[in-house]
Amino acid sequence: MTAPRILVLGTGGTIAGAGASATGAAYRPGGLALEAMLGNLAALGLAAELVPQEVARIGSQDMGWPQWQALHAACTGALADPAIDGVIITHGTDTAEETAFLLDLTLPTHKPIVLVGAMRAADAVGADGMRNFANAVKVASYGRASWRGVMLVMGDAVLAARDARKAATSSIDAFRSFPRGPLARVTPSGLDWFGPPHRLGGAARHPFPDALPRVAILTAGAGMDEQPVTALLGIGCKGMVLAGMGQGNAPACVIAALAEAAAAGVPVVRSTRVDEGIVDRNVEVDDDALGFVAARALGPAKARVLLMVLIANGITKPAAVQAAFDGG
Ligand code: ASP
Repeated sequence: MTAPRILVLGTGGTIAGAGASATGAAYRPGGLALEAMLGNLAALGLAAELVPQEVARIGSQDMGWPQWQALHAACTGALADPAIDGVIITHGTDTAEETAFLLDLTLPTHKPIVLVGAMRAADAVGADGMRNFANAVKVASYGRASWRGVMLVMGDAVLAARDARKAATSSIDAFRSFPRGPLARVTPSGLDWFGPPHRLGGAARHPFPDALPRVAILTAGAGMDEQPVTALLGIGCKGMVLAGMGQGNAPACVIAALAEAAAAGVPVVRSTRVDEGIVDRNVEVDDDALGFVAARALGPAKARVLLMVLIANGITKPAAVQAAFDGG
């Protein structure tokens, strides 16, 4: 049997991080070139042929439209190429959930696409990147990993893009999955799925846009006034995501300003600044009357990604935006 061929798209991050000292805190994400990183992995004897393509060498705090376009184009090419069996994207952990979710919304699912990162730089003592990468190879090489959407491998867990969330700034066990738990447990030698694939026949759910509109996240805080809403509309925001208190709440003056925006045709999505939980419609805020959308299980960062994709595709009416937030 020939070894699976995996396209490895490098973007930088801590998995390719280089520090001045193996025990110090400071390091530079993306300090290591992809080829050098894969050179370090050669000793692992991975049962796959890796085809490297460096897209960027950045900390993922700088990830944005140009890199997303390049990643989407490279994945589209790999999905159409019969010689490629799966794709791995090495990525910083800060925004891995946003990149993964954008690709999940806009790519079909007939080959595995797996993001992988690390919490310790490649040359730090106890670095986790090699293990995580070996796990990602296991998932990306495995035909039955198809039809599950874009996935994120961190530690020995495989998380769905829609559910994955960075929940800790520095511990190795930094990611959580909500509302579903992990899709699978993976080790370099084993892979156990916890459920069947859920996107069989899965075409892309939304076309990949030509450009992304400006959509802001506004975090609610006690005692704030409505001026940040006015300011964000003033710089041309085409959509707003409220990272609200609790069930997506905010002071009455902020809710009133957001309702004015919604009435003027700017989609407003109520999400929560709370770590975990579902924001439902019409709980303490009358979404029906005010024209708001409830983010359901999506946190602010992913709600912004989905809202940008929807607006770019001409979907701005509250009912249609809500339907997209309700869907799978
Ligand atoms: N700031 C880094 C990044 O997102 C953190 C990491 O990779 O873990 O690129």
